[in-house]
Amino acid sequence: MVGRGWDSARLDSRVSLMKHDILSTIVHPQQRAVCSVSAPVPSGTGYKFKGPVRGTIELLNTGEGISARGRLRATVVLDCSRCLRPHNVPLDITVDEICSLDQIEDWQAGPASDDEQCPVPICDGEVVDLSELVRQLLILSVPPRSLCQPDCRGLCPQCGQNLNEAQCECHQREVDPRLVSLKRLL
Ligand SMILES: [Zn+2]
Ligand SMILES: [Zn+2]
Repeated sequence: MVGRGWDSARLDSRVSLMKHDILSTIVHPQQRAVCSVSAPVPSGTGYKFKGPVRGTIELLNTGEGISARGRLRATVVLDCSRCLRPHNVPLDITVDEICSLDQIEDWQAGPASDDEQCPVPICDGEVVDLSELVRQLLILSVPPRSLCQPDCRGLCPQCGQNLNEAQCECHQREVDPRLVSLKRLL
């Protein structure tokens, strides 16, 4: 039983495909490694995601840094910019970044850099950990505005009614004030 527990723990660490035991390869210039990504979205994005992030990233040691190229897919849940309704937005991300073999932990502990050219570190101890890279790519790919449907009618600015679901009285009043007067008389 002890042996089985140890095996399943090993398996778990392998199926969490953000960490790859390829550092001994990629540390050498001109060496490359292809990494599959299929894992829960890393924490700390500030967004709600539905399902995992999946894709492939190829790492190449260019001699000056680590080039990361590939593709990632994930689904983020955003509130509609007009009616606030939460809806799924698929993200299809083309990866083309320069990374470094610095330790993620050291980088996170240090002062936050405003320099966008600063390469993202991908090392966690003796393994390559893509979670910080993936986290940053996901944040950058979330659109600032999103609609639940292209012709979303939004909320009434006066009464807050969701105009996709029903029409409120406010709109009619603006269109034809005489109708309201007539209604009052009746
Ligand atoms: Zn909407
Ligand atoms: Zn209204």
